[in-house]
Amino acid sequence: MGAIRAVSSEEFDDSRFEQSRLRMVQEQLLTRGIADERVLAAMRRVPRHLFVDEMARPAAYEDEPLPIGSGQTISQPYMVARMTELLELESDSRVLEVGTGSGYQAAVLAEIAGEVWTVERHGALAERARRVLARLGHRNVHVETGDGSLGLPHHSPFDAIVVTAASPGVPPSLTDQLAPGGRLVIPVGGQGTQRLRLIRRDPNGLQETDVLGCRFVPLIGAHGHPSGEVRRLRVLVEGRVQGVWFRESTREEAERRGVRGWVRNLADGRVEAVFEGEPAGVDALVRWVRRGPERALVTEVTVSSEAPQGEQGFRVTG
Ligand code: SAM
Repeated sequence: MGAIRAVSSEEFDDSRFEQSRLRMVQEQLLTRGIADERVLAAMRRVPRHLFVDEMARPAAYEDEPLPIGSGQTISQPYMVARMTELLELESDSRVLEVGTGSGYQAAVLAEIAGEVWTVERHGALAERARRVLARLGHRNVHVETGDGSLGLPHHSPFDAIVVTAASPGVPPSLTDQLAPGGRLVIPVGGQGTQRLRLIRRDPNGLQETDVLGCRFVPLIGAHGHPSGEVRRLRVLVEGRVQGVWFRESTREEAERRGVRGWVRNLADGRVEAVFEGEPAGVDALVRWVRRGPERALVTEVTVSSEAPQGEQGFRVTG
């Protein structure tokens, strides 16, 4: 007679969830035409139940999106599979995901690709995703907080970019960060339903294909939908910062992030600026100012908050 081994409740749960996961792949993905074996294998492996709240775990492998806090959702398994398949990933692909959410899709991407960067605008979601991904040992995923509609220019070019929130259009900031032959998958449309689009950079330019109807939470940011929130910050910068290049670089960085306001030199050697716009864009610009452009030496930055005044454009005033 074989020995009887006690099974812990965690092991019991793991095997129950594994059965649900295999059923999910069989019933929701294979029968709907997902054929890329690497995507199917990744989704058989990634424990989706660990990316949702404990309360939502019993529904983790159902055919639906689920709430993950901060008013956001983890996408339906089929949508994760379809978007990943469209990216045509290889084991050495460099991938950008905009909209980390729970981190689940990032884990699926990381199972297949070489290196994954993922950006989330909600700090609390980014932090939780970082923890779960680290616990699962995904060392090739880098979670950043900020406005992903701007992409991540210093890590570009990317072989594949996936946006998991609905954008009003195809942001040039993202197509500019595609490597030759690179693929961008993005839901485009308003706040109701959208169309999933595949954009490929080939030698003749960008080729766009309409894929299917979908429903995503909005992409909020400089190249997405407005959040309705406006932040205005006054910034005083000390150090070796006066000179045309500091003000001009600030203007370029502001325009790239869709931030409005102005910048000028003060008689005492400091630079003063006002930044107004989407909070994520304004905060990112303040982070940039703390480093300054190459050759500048920023020693101190003082930031104070003010009521928005409806700035238009960005000016270098003196
Ligand atoms: N991929 C996620 C997953 O596997 O759980 C699901 C993403 S959820 C449908 C969309 C996410 O996009 C939300 O977490 C939302 O906060 C985020 N988001 C919206 N606008 C963003 C932006 N400009 N930059 C980064 N993340 C953004």
